[in-house]
Amino acid sequence: MLSETITAIIRAEMGRHKFDTYVDDPPSTAQGGRGVVVPGCSICKVRLSTVGQFVDHLTKSVVRAVQEAAREPEETAGAALCSKVSKDSVN
Ligand SMILES: [Zn+2]
Repeated sequence: MLSETITAIIRAEMGRHKFDTYVDDPPSTAQGGRGVVVPGCSICKVRLSTVGQFVDHLTKSVVRAVQEAAREPEETAGAALCSKVSKDSVN
């Protein structure tokens, strides 16, 4: 796999996640539901309390994305990356 492809996969995957807050189990209590605002990855809806946990979440996601791309033939990996980058840019 080309190093540019690996770099693009890592950039796309790292940019996909966001350490923020989100409503766990919406709607929120303010809207009459039972959901509460929690810290974590607001894209994956994963509760994370510390930056260290977020870095671990990012690392696992990047490693998984690179491993998935490495299993595919070069042309397929490039096509998958283009699809993934365009899909993520929509979100
Ligand atoms: Zn995430």
